Amino acid sequence: MSISFILHMILHVTVPLAVAWLAYRDQFRKAFFTMLAGIAIDVDHLLVTPILHPDRCSVGFHLLHGYWFCAIYLVLALYKKTRLLGLGLVIHILLDAIECFRQQFLEDFLRSF
Ligand SMILES: [Zn+2]
Repeated sequence: MSISFILHMILHVTVPLAVAWLAYRDQFRKAFFTMLAGIAIDVDHLLVTPILHPDRCSVGFHLLHGYWFCAIYLVLALYKKTRLLGLGLVIHILLDAIECFRQQFLEDFLRSF
């Protein structure tokens, strides 16, 4: 397990924590744990082999990381009743997308030598 993968997993916890602290301090616990629940979409990793592959881009590959689901997560974030869950899911997808970009960028960068 690489350091960048561990950092990625830590961000899945700390970013919702920071957003809850900054934007929902009055209901911090509810906001944090609801947004943290967004990590549950990683259950779709169980549908493929290998379950965990640090160099694989999740966005667009795994079922619940599909583009149609991303659109649904965005819509959930727009409505007050589902906003926290939607935000958690959008944060999750954004972090996964940043990881995909980092993987691709690093690969291209290393290939340039
Ligand atoms: Zn994910």
